[in-house]
Amino acid sequence: MSLSAFLPFTKPDIDAETIADVSLVLASGWITSGPKVAEFEAQLSALFGGRPVRAFSNGTATMEVALRLAGIGPGDEVITTAITWVATANVILAVGAKPVFVDVDPQTRNIDLAAVEAAITPRTKAIMPVYLAGLPVDMDRLYRIADQHGLRVIEDAAQAIDSHWNSQRIGSFGDLVSFSFQANKNITCAEGGCLVLNNAAEAEAVERLRLQGVVRSGLDGMDVEIPGGKFNLTDINAAIGLGQLKHLDAVTRRRAELAQAYFAAAAATGLEALGIELPPQINSLGAITNWHMFQVLLPASRLQGGRAAVMQMLRDAGIGAGVHYPALHLFSFYRDQGWREGMLSHSERIGRSILTLPLFPAMSDADPLRVCRALAASCQQLLK
Ligand SMILES: *Cc1c(COP(=O)(O)O)cnc(C)c1O
Repeated sequence: MSLSAFLPFTKPDIDAETIADVSLVLASGWITSGPKVAEFEAQLSALFGGRPVRAFSNGTATMEVALRLAGIGPGDEVITTAITWVATANVILAVGAKPVFVDVDPQTRNIDLAAVEAAITPRTKAIMPVYLAGLPVDMDRLYRIADQHGLRVIEDAAQAIDSHWNSQRIGSFGDLVSFSFQANKNITCAEGGCLVLNNAAEAEAVERLRLQGVVRSGLDGMDVEIPGGKFNLTDINAAIGLGQLKHLDAVTRRRAELAQAYFAAAAATGLEALGIELPPQINSLGAITNWHMFQVLLPASRLQGGRAAVMQMLRDAGIGAGVHYPALHLFSFYRDQGWREGMLSHSERIGRSILTLPLFPAMSDADPLRVCRALAASCQQLLK
């Protein structure tokens, strides 16, 4: 099989107009944060119902700034999930707080809100839910818990641009909502992120945290009241994001179409009979995913060579697959702090068996069937 026929698990799609716009920025004499960032923030704010939005250099920086804005630091606990990208826990550690992992709901693979409630202590300051593959949690229940206990919510909505809850777009309501525009996300800036905020005062505060804490006045005035970081987005990246936003509706629609093609292909190839679990369909609660990923759970313990053997056979068939994510609490760093197997059983099973199949708008209508056939064949061969 030629390299060009390889089907990766995801692939960014930048149109020619966007490439031309990036060239214009490069030639303009102003290449870092400037008018394109302001325009990007304005368009994002419109997308999120007029709430203030500020852009950052990446989604990790965005979440760290959100935690700092919320005043979270040493001695504080933040409740989150172990089935996420390591960034979610890293930023909690970066501000000096403690990540408290609770288990996920085995059906949605998202943080279990009953477990969140049970983990609240006097030190708990915030909840950091993650919308895996773009699927929101029960947002009404999440905010009911937060209100009852006086907690901030920092939504790691990195994967959830254009996902909805009861017809409301994620980001258009809630507390602090963080998105990522990293290359693999549904909308990309190559690298970038944004934070949706509650009011102008918060927006002003994160502007300072974003750029060295500096406040300017007049032509020559400068002051620093709080130390900040260097988390600004460049106009080059913002120009990419602006070009991507034009396609948001089409991207979400195409992803949903391909997801439905996967469900049909999974039925046609008998994936469930082989012990493969499909992703949750639009669930009954009003959560609508943006299909950031199409993830199956493999019967990993019954497969000769486990998940890696399946990935190798898919690769040999010209198909890429990914692991998003191994359960975080079993990494060495967390084991050193006492986390062990058996503490978060659903997360551990999902972490061992989850597999991300190719899903991106430019793939063909026929690709889901090709992927499911290859997946079925590999499992048939490897099942013990
Ligand atoms: C992508 C991602 C991040 C981090 O975003 P970056 O832009 O890569 O820093 C955080 N959390 C989740 C769940 C992600 O998918």
